[in-house]
Amino acid sequence: MEIVRELVPPDRRKPLFADPLKLPFGRNFTDHMFTMEFTPAAGWQRPRIKPYGPLVLDPSANVFHYSQEVFEGQKAYKSAKGEILMFRPQENARRLNRSLRRMCMPEIPEEAILEAECELLKVEERWVPDKKGASLYIRPTVIGTEAALGIKPSSDYLFYIILSPVGPYFKEGFNPVSLWVSDRYSRAGSGGTGEAKTGGNYAGSLLATLEATQQGYSQVLWLDAGEHRYVEEVGAMNIFFVIDGTLVTPALGGTILHGITRKSVLELAPELGIRAEERRLAIDDILAGIDSGRVSEVFGAGTAAVISPVGKIACRGRDHVINGNQTGPWARKFYDTLTGIQYGEIADKHGWVLVVR
Ligand SMILES: *Cc1c(COP(=O)(O)O)cnc(C)c1O
Repeated sequence: MEIVRELVPPDRRKPLFADPLKLPFGRNFTDHMFTMEFTPAAGWQRPRIKPYGPLVLDPSANVFHYSQEVFEGQKAYKSAKGEILMFRPQENARRLNRSLRRMCMPEIPEEAILEAECELLKVEERWVPDKKGASLYIRPTVIGTEAALGIKPSSDYLFYIILSPVGPYFKEGFNPVSLWVSDRYSRAGSGGTGEAKTGGNYAGSLLATLEATQQGYSQVLWLDAGEHRYVEEVGAMNIFFVIDGTLVTPALGGTILHGITRKSVLELAPELGIRAEERRLAIDDILAGIDSGRVSEVFGAGTAAVISPVGKIACRGRDHVINGNQTGPWARKFYDTLTGIQYGEIADKHGWVLVVR
C-alpha cells in the first residue's frame, strides 16, 4: 500500500503530557491520523497519514442518520527496551471485518489495516508512553459517508485511525467496582447487532448506565434481552466468575461481543492452573453462589481496563458482596500475566505480541 504522508512540521507538533500515568481516557490525541476512502468504483483508496483534525461530512451523511459505523479499541505499549508492541492486532482486524459485514459495510484487507496501524504508530512513536500502565490507545473507525437520506447502505465510506495516549484505567489502583443489574434494559437482542462493535449498541446502553450511576454503582451488569435471566456482559467488557474454583464466562451466542481479552483469559487459564468453562449463567444462581461463598471472584475483561475486579452486585434492591469487596487472587494473576505479556516483560509463548519497531 502506498501511503501518502502529509506531516505536521516538527516545530508545530503538540507537547507531550508530563506524567502519562495521570492521562485521562480518550481526551488527548496525537498529531496525525490515518484515513482511507471507499467508493464503489475504486474500492478502498487514497491511504494517507495527515494532521489530526476535524472531518468535513455532509449533514445528510449515512452515519448521522442510519448509523453505519464500526470501530475497534486496541493499544500500543512501550517495552523496557523501547520497542513498540501491539497485542494480537490481527484479532482486532478480523473483528473489524466481522463488524463491517454485519453492518453491511465493505471489508478492508487485514494486511491493509495492520499496515496502516503500524505506519501511523511509527510516525507517532514519541506518543507511546514509556511508563508501565500507560499506553497509546488505538481507535480504528469506519463510517458511511454518502450524502443521501433513505434507509440503504451507504455507497461511500471513510476508514480512519486516531491515537490517544492514556494512563491506567484505575487511577487509584486495582480496586473492585460495583455493578447494577438492570431488569428493564438490555444491551443486545437475539438476531441483533450485539456481536458487532458498532456505535448504536453503546448509544442504547447509556440510559441504563446513567440509572446505575445515579444509584451509586459504576457499571451495568447486562442480562439477556429475552428473559432477563442470563448474564451477558458488564458495561463494555466481558465477564468472568470463579465458581467452586472453576473460571466460568457466558458462552458467546450472538449477543455477546467476542472480546480479545476474554479469549486470552480463556487461553491462559489452563497454564495458570485454573479450569475454564463457557456456558449459560443464570443471575439467580450467581447471586446465590455469591451469598454462599461458592462464587469467590467476579471480574470484567476488556482492552481498556484489562481486568476489572467486581466487589458487589446489586439486584432487586439487594447488594451481594463478593470476596469481602476485595480484589481476588485470580483477577490479580490474570491482570499481571496479561500486562506482563503486553509490555514485553513475560515471554510471549503464544505469539500474541507484534513488534512494530
Ligand atoms: C470492546 C468490547 C469488549 C472487550 O473486547 P476486547 O477485545 O477484550 O477489548 C467487550 N464487550 C463489549 C460490548 C465491547 O465493546
